[in-house]
Amino acid sequence: MPGGTDQTLRPFLWRAEKLYPDTEIVSRTHQGIERYDYTEYSERTAQLAHAMDETGVPDDARVATFCWNHNRHFETYFAIPTTGKQLHLINPLLPDEHIQYIVGNAEDRIIFVDPSLLEKLEGAAQSADEFDNVEQFVVIGDEVPETGLEPVTDYESFIEGHPTDYDWPTLDEDRPAGMCYTSGTTGKPKGVEYTHKMLWSHTMTTLTPQGIPMADDDVVMPVVPMFHVNAWGMPFTATAAGSKHVYPGPSPEPEDLAHLIEEEGVTITAGVPTVWLGLQEYIQAGNDVDLSTLDTVIIGGSAAPKAMIEWFDERDVEVLHAWGMTEMSPIGSVGHLKSDLEDADYDTQVEKRAKQGLSVPGLEWKVIDDEGNEIEENGEDFGELYVRGPWVTKEYFKRPEANEEDFEDGWLKTGDVVTIDEDGYIKIVDRAKDVIKSGGEWISSVELENAIMAHDDVKEAAVVGVPHERWQERPVAFVVPMEGADPTRLEREITEMIEEDYPKWWMPDDFINIDEVPKTATGKFSKKDLREEYADQDLVEGQVPDEAAPDDD
Ligand code: ADP
Repeated sequence: MPGGTDQTLRPFLWRAEKLYPDTEIVSRTHQGIERYDYTEYSERTAQLAHAMDETGVPDDARVATFCWNHNRHFETYFAIPTTGKQLHLINPLLPDEHIQYIVGNAEDRIIFVDPSLLEKLEGAAQSADEFDNVEQFVVIGDEVPETGLEPVTDYESFIEGHPTDYDWPTLDEDRPAGMCYTSGTTGKPKGVEYTHKMLWSHTMTTLTPQGIPMADDDVVMPVVPMFHVNAWGMPFTATAAGSKHVYPGPSPEPEDLAHLIEEEGVTITAGVPTVWLGLQEYIQAGNDVDLSTLDTVIIGGSAAPKAMIEWFDERDVEVLHAWGMTEMSPIGSVGHLKSDLEDADYDTQVEKRAKQGLSVPGLEWKVIDDEGNEIEENGEDFGELYVRGPWVTKEYFKRPEANEEDFEDGWLKTGDVVTIDEDGYIKIVDRAKDVIKSGGEWISSVELENAIMAHDDVKEAAVVGVPHERWQERPVAFVVPMEGADPTRLEREITEMIEEDYPKWWMPDDFINIDEVPKTATGKFSKKDLREEYADQDLVEGQVPDEAAPDDD
């Protein structure tokens, strides 16, 4: 039985079971490759649904996962929401206090956890009242390692012996199906609930040619973690399309990704830029990787560097640069080339594709400047991007104060400062809280970072605004040089590069060499941590103290 009319998730799987019973779901595990087809996947999903019923948790319980990307995690993706429960994906990279907060805030009743993450979860749960609601821990695998978490069982025993079909309920499309928390770069993480309708409409817009189209002959490998905004919705989209799924398992190295692409014939994959930088380095180090099956790499989460787009182009792999947010299920825009740009020269095309793309069908947007007016879409003027649409949340979970700040008349204020050009391409210039205000003018920290990172000897760079008596704020650049690079020469060359392309007043007042830019739980630069780390060094007036001078590595 489909188990749901209206805009709910169940019919996607129902169709895949019927039309593509033999299409495979493949997963890398510590033990090697596991594979089965949609038929077996569906049967196991039914068994999992029965097993959850047997625990006695309510039909609308929130059930959490604390897992990497693998087939069992994918089983929870359908089994939990299609029984009416809510799939809460927890990011295991969050600090303990955030994990405690979100488990308590969501009132999770069951938690599925990977063996390699058990210790982390146990640490967070230790003497934390927030875990009092949890009635069952389920360790993925067929045995339970030593643990203080209780009551606990292993996944295979949990589902074993249960019927392989299930009387799936008819659900309301407005019923919550999923949940993720923002990684909380400022303050406590904020919960976003995804209704069935949101995930359904997100799947549909993603499947359009302006989104990330997939078909039954595609082999889809989400490298973006399944705990991060539903792996950008790919497990749902790939199922709706009847594609083959490939899951890269716990902490995949570039070598693992390369093997999966080659062995499984991956056609579409997705992840943040650092993942592809890793693969690029692996190949540049002389490892021969056959990328001939690969049609498309989706890059998002942070900006895809132009050089990365070109690198894939040279290998006949199309990069689709996408932008989105936890609050948007997550996709907002994808960098397809408009048909009237097909004859443009290559540089113009790459320039366009390196922007954050064109809004996907169904989304509305506006850009509001400092004075509260809508900007002109001329590629120059910028302001904060507001969006609304069927898969954009209208509020945070139990956070009225954050709702007040981040929503206005039904619009989500994205916190991204953007330009939109005459062709409609959105370009993120900065985060609203990171943009540097110097002498009444705005400086994009992101542009400066990209300019600095374009130097071959720079591994990472982060630019932050520091208070300045005369100019309000001035930019200071934190640079992670490549091993063996000469910092003095590097600073001189970077300065020359910036001088050439940017106004004089954009030049950072100082360059500080560091070993690594601190990252958030989703792998993005955490400028908040960077500022905190250097707060005691009093980076005022552009006067950098001696101990942090550029040649002091
Ligand atoms: P979190 O806020 O938890 O770090 P999100 O995935 O919700 O995680 O982050 C959304 C933000 O990430 C966006 O508002 C934007 O600032 C940034 N972002 C996402 N995709 C891109 C992209 N392609 N280029 C630049 N920034 C991006």
